[in-house]
Parts: sequence; structure tokens; C-alpha cells
Amino acid sequence: MILKNEYYKAKSLTLGVLKTFLSMSFDVVKRIYGIKKVMTIDYPTETYQYSPRLLGLPQLVLDSKGKSLCTSCMKCVEICPTNCLEVKGVEGKEPEIFNLDVGKCIFCSYCEDVCPDDAIKMSQEHILASHNEENLVLNFNELKSQGKRPEPTSSEQTR
Ligand code: SF4
Ligand code: SF4
Repeated sequence: MILKNEYYKAKSLTLGVLKTFLSMSFDVVKRIYGIKKVMTIDYPTETYQYSPRLLGLPQLVLDSKGKSLCTSCMKCVEICPTNCLEVKGVEGKEPEIFNLDVGKCIFCSYCEDVCPDDAIKMSQEHILASHNEENLVLNFNELKSQGKRPEPTSSEQTR
């Protein structure tokens, strides 16, 4: 009985290994002949075009003269669930201070939703890692210089 069990164990192991080997071999052949799409890309020389629904870094929107549309109403500061926004200024005017701590932002888009002036928009920028924590706090000019929602280029791959 023990011998019979050992026989079936060895048989199923051999079959399993053989099945895996054949499946991997077919996969390699399919990729070589382009039958199966390669799912990886040569990052960072290649980048994906992500879904338009991707929410990345909030950015300040500018008017045609390059002035921010923000009127320092503080609504975004009040609604932000992670307290990553710091805005100081006189209501109705451009803020004197507008800081965003990217390390705390969860890209929830509440700030965009609540803004009465459409002055803050979610971009698709999400490659934001830094070796220095201080670099994660973006100031008014840095958020302004981002301008508007970046459009994906046609050379980027579609995922
Ligand atoms: S996206 Fe969310 S977490 Fe980030 S600044 Fe806006 S409200 Fe705060
Ligand atoms: S970004 Fe919008 S919600 Fe935030 S302070 Fe400026 S105008 Fe108000």
C-alpha cells in the first residue's frame, strides 16, 4: 500500500513538472513569434499610457496669463483628509503660501471636487519618489509650474 502511494506521488510529481515545463516552453515560443503579447515594458525608456481615470498629483490651474485661479478660500484645506495642504492668504486673492505634502497626499481628489474656482486639478503625475523627505513638500510655484493636466503622448504604449 505504501509502495502504491509512493508510486502515485512520484507519477503526479513527474507529470506536474512535465506539464509546467511544456507550458513554459509554449509561452516562450509564443512570445518569440509575437503570438503572445509581452506584458512588461523597458521602463523608464518606455512608459505606459494609463487610464484617463488615474488620479495623480493635484496641480494648480493657471489662467492665460499664467496666474493661478486659486482665491485662497481654504475649502480644499478644510476637506483634505490627510492635512497635506497648507494655504495662507487673503480670501479673493492669490495665496501667499500654498504647500502640498506629497508624502501625505492620498490622491483622493476631494480638493478638486470642492474647489469653487476649478483652481486645483488632479494630474496623472504619480512618479514622485524622492530620497529626501523635504523634496516631497511642493510649494506654490512648484505646483503652479505644473500648469494643467498633462496629456499622454501618442508614443506612449496603451495598457
Ligand atoms: S488629493 Fe486628497 S489628500 Fe491630496 S491634497 Fe487633495 S484632498 Fe488632500
Ligand atoms: S485651490 Fe480652490 S479650494 Fe483650494 S484655496 Fe484655492 S480656490 Fe480654494
